[in-house]
Amino acid sequence: MPSYQPPPLRIAIIGGGPGGLGSAIALSSLPNVVVTLYERAKELREIGAGIRVGFNGWKVLELLGADEDVRGHVESSVLHRNGLSGEIVKESPLSKYPIRYHPQRVRRTRLQSALISKVPEGVIKLNKKLVGLEDLSENGVKLTFEDGSEVIADLVVGGDGIRSVVRQHVFPEHTIQFTGTTIFRVLVPVSSVSNISDMMPSTQWWHGPTGHFYCSLVDDPAETDEKNQLFEIAARKLIDPSTDLTKKFSWGVPATNARVEGFFTDYDPRVLEALSVVPEGHWKEFSAFAGPRLEKLTAWNEKIVLIGDASHPLSGAFGSGATFAMEDGWILARAIEYSRGVGGNLSRALEVFDSIRSPYYARMYTHLDEQKQKVQNSKATNQGQSFELTLRTRIAAFGGEEKLSWIYGNDIGEVWSDFLRTSEKSDA
Ligand SMILES: Cc1cc2nc3c(=O)[nH]c(=O)nc-3n(C[C@H](O)[C@H](O)[C@H](O)COP(=O)(O)OP(=O)(O)OC[C@H]3O[C@@H](n4cnc5c(N)ncnc54)[C@H](O)[C@@H]3O)c2cc1C
Repeated sequence: MPSYQPPPLRIAIIGGGPGGLGSAIALSSLPNVVVTLYERAKELREIGAGIRVGFNGWKVLELLGADEDVRGHVESSVLHRNGLSGEIVKESPLSKYPIRYHPQRVRRTRLQSALISKVPEGVIKLNKKLVGLEDLSENGVKLTFEDGSEVIADLVVGGDGIRSVVRQHVFPEHTIQFTGTTIFRVLVPVSSVSNISDMMPSTQWWHGPTGHFYCSLVDDPAETDEKNQLFEIAARKLIDPSTDLTKKFSWGVPATNARVEGFFTDYDPRVLEALSVVPEGHWKEFSAFAGPRLEKLTAWNEKIVLIGDASHPLSGAFGSGATFAMEDGWILARAIEYSRGVGGNLSRALEVFDSIRSPYYARMYTHLDEQKQKVQNSKATNQGQSFELTLRTRIAAFGGEEKLSWIYGNDIGEVWSDFLRTSEKSDA
């Protein structure tokens, strides 16, 4: 008699960012699943400029089999400068990890293409904006799209970013707010800034009293010839968010040169010169929104799971959000595989996922709260202190590889091995 084969697990992933794509790769490799990724965009086109991939990022990309095609500029030197005077305040130490795991600044499009190339054919459905979710109890979840189409899935993976529709449906009381930070981003040809002294090759932060100018190379010279190499600029302006309570969410909207340059008029002339090379119409503006921690990343009797920015709306606080999102996708696949192996159901799998990822995000929120408190304390005790002194305190508080190794040195494969060791012990 043929043995009973349960029907395949129908998995619907919402969103084709690093989290959705990473999940699609990891989940598609499981047996007896049907994975579909729904993305609202008509074509998968990454907005933004560059992205940092460090040790934690390389580790998860290796596990997803997508590390080889992600090439960028190796950050061998990172400088923090007083943005007004140009004085170098700190040079970050070289990465302690082997060279293949050194942080690189890469074009976002490269990361995206590398991930897309590993997603099996037919999994990605474009032009599918999710507008509704309905809990069908033991029959799964009904998804409704803007075009009127509907599908039913056993598991919905909400990888739809900071303004997640999935999160809004399952945690309607959760809200996000403007953090006070506006980021202007652009890529320009390296040739247009190469004559400005000290703009390269180091990755640099030019800090000002209420913002900073960040710049970096983003290409691997072994892969991209000189005339096609690009240079990233990400300029941030900070305001007290309580002064702009009406701020609307903006993500990748055009900004004029006058608007951007207006925030940096008192900066070092080299910064002003770099800003002046940006062709009109090329700046894109992003307003940072964030929200409180979710106690649990799963909902509706373990039929919904949130990953990436949808699960922890921190607004890119650690510059590693794409990595967190991919880690979520890989761990989710391991959790399903594991729970099937021990005769557990989907509910058990999502419990495992939540037990690993929720405490990790809780630790990030705690860290940010502590940092905020330190800054407030320092402001209260050093009222009227000079910009130079404030800057030194701010840079000293900067958490890099050395201070936040639980983030930047996270090896998600090891995290999973630890989980397996601990569960074996508790089963013994
Ligand atoms: C200025 C800035 C700098 C950053 N720098 C870094 C960095 O250096 N390194 C790093 O790792 N991270 C960085 N981050 C963070 C990183 O960009 C995010 O954390 C990461 O993109 C989150 O991935 P995600 O897949 O969760 O969501 P997203 O990348 O936001 O993807 C969500 C996807 O869902 C789709 N979608 C949304 N709604 C729907 C819907 N209703 N139906 C269908 N599809 C939908 C969207 O179109 C999008 O494709 C930075 C962020 C910012 C703002």
